[in-house]
Amino acid sequence: MKGKPETAWLSECDSQALQQVLRDLVRAFTNFFERRARYPRFKSKKRDRARFRIPQRVKVADGKVYVPKVGWVRIRQSREVDGATKSATFAREADGHWYVSLVTEFEMPDVAIVIDSAKVVGIDLGLKDFVVPSDGSKTTPAPKFSRKATAKIRRAQKAVSRRKLGSKRRDKAKKRLALAHRKARDQRNDFLHKLSTDLVDRYEAICIEDLNVKGLARTKLARSFTDAAMGEFRRQLEYKCEWNRRALVVIDRFFPSTRMCRRCGAINDRLTLEDRAWDCDCGAHHDRDLNAACNILDEGLRLLAAGQARQAKRSGSRCKTRASELSASN
Ligand SMILES: [Zn+2]
Repeated sequence: MKGKPETAWLSECDSQALQQVLRDLVRAFTNFFERRARYPRFKSKKRDRARFRIPQRVKVADGKVYVPKVGWVRIRQSREVDGATKSATFAREADGHWYVSLVTEFEMPDVAIVIDSAKVVGIDLGLKDFVVPSDGSKTTPAPKFSRKATAKIRRAQKAVSRRKLGSKRRDKAKKRLALAHRKARDQRNDFLHKLSTDLVDRYEAICIEDLNVKGLARTKLARSFTDAAMGEFRRQLEYKCEWNRRALVVIDRFFPSTRMCRRCGAINDRLTLEDRAWDCDCGAHHDRDLNAACNILDEGLRLLAAGQARQAKRSGSRCKTRASELSASN
């Protein structure tokens, strides 16, 4: 294609970046044929973010990054590169800046994880309180910014729809919308990273329920935040536990953590979504979320003792590679 006049511009690109695109295409089709994804669509200059990937060693030195065919570009580096760099993704964000994410690789020594059962925690994830730990330590309320950000996004979205197609003002409104999305995402990730790091620092094993599908009383506004947040939170806990030799125990989603009395084990079928606290027939008084967290802890300890904890086994495996991300903007 580089030889054809209409696609001669391809030779202006870095050959590695082009090959990476072909590999991405193969993966897209494999995902389609194996029924994991839809039929691949062409990238669009209007719709998609500008991004490209360099699959091999990328040079970063003295506050600069080497971009093939472009040269050394000044960056604002958020943290030191740790280990050997593998690939790099360059992408332009809504703010108009280019960001580089680097993947680095290094070996982790094979150390068995030993867990002190006093340092295991059960965690109930919810809408009102995002995290309720079983040891009664401070609960983390769901952040207030999600509602505000969602309202802002809706307003920006409406502004875009009111603008005339193809107009400059529509472009401007679109940019404001993209920025609102980005701000919401940054706030959410900042919140989740601080929370997951704190938990991994404090405990040696963390027990959570499998992705939350217990028909929570959801308002439309709360939904988008928590749905995205819970999946991301779980992902962060998974890799942070692995990096820090902690165990993450995932409890079956059908385990009746909320409805079971932690003192006598009876199931309360009358419990409704609105009940924040309840009394068991055995006389025990329960805070809904704390009771759930304690049940999750007990079930997690049982699984750990039985050696059935999925995560615990995985973390002990040999020579895990660790990908560390670095973002830099120019
Ligand atoms: Zn009871």
